[in-house]
Amino acid sequence: MSHLHLELPAPPPLPEGALRVFALGGLGEVGRNMTVFEYGGKLLIVDCGVLFPDEHHPGVDLILPDFEPIRDRLDDIVAIVLTHGHEDHIGGVPYLLRERDTIPVVGSELTLALVAPKLREHKLKEVPKHTVTEGEVLELGPFSCEFVAVNHSIPDALAVAITTPAGVALHTGDFKMDQLPLDGRITDLRAFARLGEAGVDLFLTDSTNADVPGFTTPERDITPAIDAVFARSNQRIIVASFASHVHRVQQVLDAAAKHGRKVAYVGRSMVRNMQIARDLGYLKVPDGVVVDRIDAAPPHKMVLMSTGSQGEPMAALSRMANNSHQQVQLEPGDTVLLASSLIPGNENAVYRVIDGLTKLGATVVHKGNALVHVSGHASAGELLYCYNIVKPSNVMPVHGEIRHLHANGALATKTGVPNVLLAEDGYVVDLVDGHASITGAFDCGYVYVDGSSVGDISDSDLKDRRVLGEEGFISAVVVIDSTTGKIVSGPEIHARGLAEDDSVFDSIVPKIVRSLEDALSEGTRDTRQLQQIVRRTLGSFAGRKLRRRPMILPIVLEA
Ligand SMILES: [Zn+2]
Ligand SMILES: [Zn+2]
Repeated sequence: MSHLHLELPAPPPLPEGALRVFALGGLGEVGRNMTVFEYGGKLLIVDCGVLFPDEHHPGVDLILPDFEPIRDRLDDIVAIVLTHGHEDHIGGVPYLLRERDTIPVVGSELTLALVAPKLREHKLKEVPKHTVTEGEVLELGPFSCEFVAVNHSIPDALAVAITTPAGVALHTGDFKMDQLPLDGRITDLRAFARLGEAGVDLFLTDSTNADVPGFTTPERDITPAIDAVFARSNQRIIVASFASHVHRVQQVLDAAAKHGRKVAYVGRSMVRNMQIARDLGYLKVPDGVVVDRIDAAPPHKMVLMSTGSQGEPMAALSRMANNSHQQVQLEPGDTVLLASSLIPGNENAVYRVIDGLTKLGATVVHKGNALVHVSGHASAGELLYCYNIVKPSNVMPVHGEIRHLHANGALATKTGVPNVLLAEDGYVVDLVDGHASITGAFDCGYVYVDGSSVGDISDSDLKDRRVLGEEGFISAVVVIDSTTGKIVSGPEIHARGLAEDDSVFDSIVPKIVRSLEDALSEGTRDTRQLQQIVRRTLGSFAGRKLRRRPMILPIVLEA
């Protein structure tokens, strides 16, 4: 197994006839998936998603893949191929297209339908779109792409086999191997086997559940648990799930029909996506079940199908949990069903929401206390199956945090895969004469979207925001007379988020005055140096007396 290199050189020139693969996101996090394939001077992009921020990213709306390594090569991109319509695979598409709006976007019918409103929002009218289905082969520059049906927690997901003269790379996208899925569309293992028989040189596989033993529970196994929730609720039921989980919504609609309830969608993306899914025939709505208004029936006859299952602060469920939703006020006795997984990183936010809902008197049913959700990703057993069927010569685990990538690599090794590449974002994997190796790395960071600005906030800005939020803020203003070297006024100290009132600083003021006067008497007049003295004195005081490391803004002015 190739080990992670901490210090990698810049990538060497790509040898002629070789295939290069690198991810600009998705290796080391569950989110912002984006993989670049390079052959003969052309680039093919598979997926371009977003990562949702957590409490470490105050004020950030979205986190994008880092386009910098391909920014001067936008004209070489032959297409963006999308494996499926989840945000961690399509959310970044408009941001890449804003840099060149003529890149063709290729994906299944549902995937492209979910991308379309994003392109409209960003006023990207000219983007060429190409719909593909499983079994189809599409030539995109030097890349011959064959699309293979895979089963996942959204309909119409595809794996893609990319053939170039350098060999065949098979990218699973997100997948699992539910053998009795609700829509009957299983992962096409026959195609995997056929491709494997012909020879797969590089197999890129979904690592999300690689550390979960066994097999992912079939979707239909959760129907009884959902049914039980409906049977015992005698007030309003609120179900939260991903706004793209068509099959889960289908199960809720069916349960509602069975128990004589109406369903109203809550949350902009839920309303929009379910309309799309219904129009395209992926969602079958029982007659009369879906209503427009949340009060279309009495509470014990209503189900609200809502967004916000990951604790996203602005989504409908979080607002309900802190009683700030404009239309929905929870009543004691209401039932909230979280039909969703817990994406790594979202744990605190989700449990905060569950606590808020519980405090309001709701009964919260979630995957921790009932079988109301199954994952959309293959567990270890399924991955082992795939390695044995495909028999690839090189494996590159994708889609996961570091521990998931490692677990997945270990599974491949166990089945006898001779070469496993544990790459991170920016690492360059070159396939030369059938052998893949890590040859270098691009600098690859996080790109933050904050309101309408993209990439304007840096990691150090975020650190400032965290310090402000968690450790508080102190300002100190001192006015000096630079001719006499005397303090004219101050230090005047104000603090936020540290202590009840500013009088706690009274005891440190004489010390600041003394240190400043010492420096002034030694002839120091540089205000930056004087500010540094104020900062140090206040900083050690806050650390010692208040056990905090606040942001300190010293201002020394000359009279
Ligand atoms: Zn997915
Ligand atoms: Zn994904």
